[in-house]
Amino acid sequence: MNKGRKYKCKSYNLSEEGKFQKIKNLGDRAKRLDRKSINNKGYVVSYAGNSVTRKEHRMVMEKHLGRKLKSYEIIHHLNGNKIDNRIENLQLTNYSDHQTLHLKQRGII
Ligand SMILES: [Zn+2]
Repeated sequence: MNKGRKYKCKSYNLSEEGKFQKIKNLGDRAKRLDRKSINNKGYVVSYAGNSVTRKEHRMVMEKHLGRKLKSYEIIHHLNGNKIDNRIENLQLTNYSDHQTLHLKQRGII
């Protein structure tokens, strides 16, 4: 496992004359990897490469917990602001508890 070396190899092309040429759009590619945007559900997503996006609030919680989230685990935004991904605004919950949280927030129960 040597990701750095793999990345370096990928960023160079061997030209017909046998010279290494740096791929021009490497800067754009690096920028794209770092780019964040807001998806159609209002969540902040960041590009993880190869058109894979990851939801930022899940990544923040994973970092906080030091482990990957299970698919049934849901992250709730305490203040209702989906782009406020500070750890203090995030609560780890599951599907049914999450439904309850939202019903309480709307004053239904
Ligand atoms: Zn929620």
